[in-house]
Amino acid sequence: MRKKVMAANWKMYKTPDQSRDFFRDFLPLVAGHTRDEIVVCPSFLNIPAALDAAKGSNVAIGAQNVHWKEEGAFTGETSVGQLLAWGVNNVIIGHSERRQYFGETDDTVNLRLKTALEAGFTPICCVGEVLEEREAGMTDDILRRQCVRAFHAISAKKAAKLVVAYEPVWAIGTGKTATPEIAAEAHAVIRKEATEIFGEDFANQLRILYGGSVKPDNVSSLMAQEEIDGALVGGASLDPKSFTAIVKY
Ligand code: PEP
Repeated sequence: MRKKVMAANWKMYKTPDQSRDFFRDFLPLVAGHTRDEIVVCPSFLNIPAALDAAKGSNVAIGAQNVHWKEEGAFTGETSVGQLLAWGVNNVIIGHSERRQYFGETDDTVNLRLKTALEAGFTPICCVGEVLEEREAGMTDDILRRQCVRAFHAISAKKAAKLVVAYEPVWAIGTGKTATPEIAAEAHAVIRKEATEIFGEDFANQLRILYGGSVKPDNVSSLMAQEEIDGALVGGASLDPKSFTAIVKY
């Protein structure tokens, strides 16, 4: 049995006060919920407020990105050491919005992933095809390529904490969700690739989350798929009640 991860990606939303308000309302609603791991990833500036508000609770705080160098002249970037200094060791890597708008490539995803794993983080590495790729029947090839390149030169031992999120780009923030069957098929492709790269035991343990317009009313059918080990949730994670309904599907 793989323990599911229910992760929130707050993107560039909320101020520190709004983050505190969220946790004030959310924590009592999920208190004692141990069936799944719960992770909330605010933007960097909200991390201290979120950590403070979630202290001692069953909710972990993560970042939305991390750089691969220890330190240096990399304006606008954040290092593993800076995150660890706050006690943060969960991080989203290679989100499609980073790939689409900020020049993230399979190679930089690989660099970030290597550094995060090396530093003991639990990275959520995002992969997923765009609509044109799906329509051209290229989904499986794209997922395989993204996995091969993201996991390049990483051993199974180093990758022990890896979590993958399958996020079809056409489903992110669009209200279009992949059907549970489409998601499960994609997850199976990713798991097969992980088997080839890291071995069967590793792949059997690997948690693969689904992300893309997960909402309270579609979460149960997605989570009913054996292949789906949790959710990465954007829009619907901003509201405490709606994220609670997803966590407690
Ligand atoms: C995301 O940001 O990873 C995401 C899946 O967003 P949304 O749930 O809004 O589609």
